[in-house]
Amino acid sequence: MNIATPIAHGCCDHRFEPELLHPTVSKLFMPSGVDGVYGRSGAYESVVEALAALISRHRPEAAEVFRFAPVMPRASLEKQGYLKSFPNLIGAVSTLVGSDREIARSAAKHEDGGDWTEDLRPSDLVLAPAACYPIYPIAAERGTVPDEGYVFDVAADCFRHEPSRHVDRFQSFRMREYVRIGTPAQIQAFREPWVERAKGIADVIGLTYTVEVANDPFFGRVGALMANQQREDALKFELVVPVRSAESPTACMSFNYHKEHFGEVWGLHNEAGDVLHTGCVAFGMDRLAVALFVTHGAEIAAWPASVRAALNL
Ligand code: AMP
Ligand code: ZN
Repeated sequence: MNIATPIAHGCCDHRFEPELLHPTVSKLFMPSGVDGVYGRSGAYESVVEALAALISRHRPEAAEVFRFAPVMPRASLEKQGYLKSFPNLIGAVSTLVGSDREIARSAAKHEDGGDWTEDLRPSDLVLAPAACYPIYPIAAERGTVPDEGYVFDVAADCFRHEPSRHVDRFQSFRMREYVRIGTPAQIQAFREPWVERAKGIADVIGLTYTVEVANDPFFGRVGALMANQQREDALKFELVVPVRSAESPTACMSFNYHKEHFGEVWGLHNEAGDVLHTGCVAFGMDRLAVALFVTHGAEIAAWPASVRAALNL
């Protein structure tokens, strides 16, 4: 058995065990001292950018483009039921508030060996757990949705509190999405061809994959029932790639049908007064980049010519 010796890093006493990161990928990431958060090399970023450009070339013609901040209103997350579905994944922004004197006293606790974080107060922001969440209230704010519905191209840096040393699971990662708002028929007509289009994208970049029925990791015992129902209704598919292993392949893209959930929460409706449905196609940009490096190797120059051509690399 190969037991790697933990390597201590200079900046802190955190011990990083590189064997859980794929050897190819560990060259592209700089550990930060916190699991699932890395500095990314220029080569890695060039692949993320190339993937983004490739996905943009498939942008639906009618799509409106928005890029979101890595934070979003806490009230939005509360309103859409995230606390019921995924409370374990939430990251919330907290700050020191009060007079200068009070803030100075809190900050000084650190120097004195105390715990300054006990004075933190929740702000009105949370870290965005998905790129599409901010778009629904924006669409609803416009009033009645036109009969052709909406298509959006969105992206954000996302956070999910799932610390891990595995190469395919980050706490902070980039997500790109195409989002459809419309009638159930419009969502179906959007999602199904996207599964095929996404397979085409995976083909040209040389990834091995399957598309599978999936579920979100809903929290707790009630969550398990929700997950079963989601599978039964085939509301989520994932394009999975053998990154860590063939036995537990990694979801790199997801194809989601939320039915009337966001329509009801935000009051999305058409002229006739029908509550509208929503769906999204999500690209895990970091997982796709990692999948490319694991599949084709650490040296981009040595990747198959067809893959480099597809990515303009
Ligand atoms: P989901 O909303 O869970 O379907 O996520 C959309 C996509 O984001 C997934 O298909 C993954 O590619 C990516 N993703 C989700 N969670 C993580 C994570 N912890 N680390 C990296 N990528 C992730
Ligand atoms: Zn989404």
